[in-house]
Formats: sequence, C-alpha cells, structure tokens
Amino acid sequence: MKAAILNDYEQPLSIEEIRIDPPRTGEVKVRIGATGVCHSDYHVIKGEWKYGVPMILGHEAAGIVEEIGPNVVGVQPGDHAVLSFRPYCGVCRLCTIGRSVMCEGHTGNRFVMHDGTARVHRNGEDLMILGRMGSFAEYVVIPAEQVIPVRKDVSMDVLALIGCAVTTGVGAVVNAAKVEPGSSVAVIGCGGVGLNVIQGAALVSAGQIIAVDLLDNKLEYARQFGATDTVNAAEGDPVEQVRELTGGGVDYAFEVIGNGKTVEQAVQMTRAGGTACIVGMAPQNSKATIDPLIFVTKETRLIGTWYGSARPRFDFPRLIELTLAGKLKVKELISRRYTLDQINEGFERLGRGEVARGVITFPV
Ligand SMILES: [Zn+2]
Ligand SMILES: [Zn+2]
Repeated sequence: MKAAILNDYEQPLSIEEIRIDPPRTGEVKVRIGATGVCHSDYHVIKGEWKYGVPMILGHEAAGIVEEIGPNVVGVQPGDHAVLSFRPYCGVCRLCTIGRSVMCEGHTGNRFVMHDGTARVHRNGEDLMILGRMGSFAEYVVIPAEQVIPVRKDVSMDVLALIGCAVTTGVGAVVNAAKVEPGSSVAVIGCGGVGLNVIQGAALVSAGQIIAVDLLDNKLEYARQFGATDTVNAAEGDPVEQVRELTGGGVDYAFEVIGNGKTVEQAVQMTRAGGTACIVGMAPQNSKATIDPLIFVTKETRLIGTWYGSARPRFDFPRLIELTLAGKLKVKELISRRYTLDQINEGFERLGRGEVARGVITFPV
C-alpha cells in the first residue's frame, strides 16, 4: 500500500510503497476514506515534537473496516468508523470516570501496537505510526478500542474532521470549560481547531464571541463560524482590545495555538472569576510566565483540555448528529482537498495559514 512517510524532520513527507500486516488480536484493519491535515502532524514534521523517525503521521481520520483480528467485539467488516487517536483500556481509573483521553491502562509506546510490535514495514524495517494510527496511508491497522463505528450516510471527509478538529474544539467548550449560555468568549488562534471552539461557543449560545488571530483571512473564517467580533493581534495589544470590547475581560478565553505568549494573553484577557483554557499544543519544553496572585485576587481558573476531553464513543456520534442537524458546520471547514500525493502541498498551505482545514481524500 501507499503511505506518506516522515524520514527526517523538516523534510517533505515521502510517498512510498510499504507492506502492512493483517490485524492481530484486538486489532482492526481500516481502509482510510479521508484524513485531515492537522497542526499536530506539522509539529512533528517541524521537529517541535520529536518521537523518532521513520514514522507515518496522520491522526484525524475515518474509513471503512476491512478486516478484524481475533477477539474484536463491537466492530464488523464494512462498518464506517471514525478513528480516535487515544487509547481506551476501559478499566483504568481515568477510563472509568469518563476521562479516557488520559487512559492510564495503555501507556506503552504509542507509535506501535499494544504488544510492542509494528504492523507496517518498509523493506523489512519497522515503521512507527502516530497515535497507533498513522492515517497518511491507504490502510491502517489500529487497536480496536480506537475504532468507533458510526452511521453510514455521512461522508468520509466530515467523519475525518470529527476525529480531531471538531471534537477537540467543540469538546473544549462543552466538555472541558462548560461554557454557559450568554457567556463572553475569546478564542486566540483561528485555525481548524480554533474555528471549532468558535462554533462550539455559538452552539451553546455564548454571547459575545471574540476571535483573535494575526491573519485577516482567518478572522473572516471566524465570522462565518459564529464570531461576533474580531481582533487582529497584529494591530495593537490583543489583551487591551478584548478588554475594551467586553468592558474588562471575557468569561472564557481559549488559547488554541500552543504558545507561551498567547497562554499569558489568554489569562490576562479573562475577567475576574473567569476561566482561561489551553487547547493548543505547545512545542515540547516551551514556557509561559503567569502572575500567580491573580489566581487568588481574581479567582481566575486556568485549565487545559486534550482532545476536547472527549469520550469518543459518546462524543463522535453526538457531534455527527449535531452536524446533520445543521448545528455544526463541518463540510464548510474544508477549504482544500488533496490526494495523498499532494500531502506536502497541504502542509505548505497549513503553514502559511491559508486554509481552515485541508483534507486528504482517497478514491472510494
Ligand atoms: Zn489533530
Ligand atoms: Zn484506560
């Protein structure tokens, strides 16, 4: 099968013919229908997160189940599925309380299968896969616990985006921060995930929704997804601008870039009693400087959320239903479609901030 391989950091991905094994116990083989071009993959390409190479990236994906290994229940060949990039052992403390994003049961090397071996190989050499998925490929073999069957009448590109950007952004609002109707919200960073934080805020009837970005084209996208106000952070201090628009600060500020400076800004633009929420994933070893006194005198809350604090078996289907009901815009997020061969163009456009979301689609 064909896959896009990261052979070294800061290099284009290389499209190569590789071998994939059949699924073993507890594993599922999925034919990928669509996979998103997400900033998390870009962090790895740029070497901001170093996990080792060669690796197949790709963690936002949907496809059709091709084959199941022994002892797989609840998934059948032919099922349409959204793939989760986090494990779900189902029995650890965090899975039990519905916080499986941080599953403590399956904590081994997350670039190979749970038994420690690889299913994809190039000339006898094992290849690692991001998030035990590696969806920049025609097929994946993935632990069954990461395969969420869904209804069959939804297009693969929409399902793929449910697998990361939509869940991460909307989940940050509804699962993590639990924004109340009428609240004021600021969203720093209006890429694929940030736009979903914005539409999540609109979904729960937030009042003022202020989009903050450096690029006017992204602020225009933000308006289409529900922002009521926009702040171009290149034109003056964004904290001052948000405070001015809200008369003192927002109830909820979401940082969706993954940058120490913008985390500081998120805290500073939150009003007394408000919540700053870190959604963006910073490069390894970055730092932010925060005045600890405000956590007492302003009772500011600073929280973080990974993958929208999702429970994939609950959240994926409900996000699909909300999309079909017209309450979430997912097709509208897709500004570019690529073939696997065009994947490097996808990352170039992502890097230049040209797209809301780019998606790689495979012939059905
Ligand atoms: Zn992602
Ligand atoms: Zn677990």
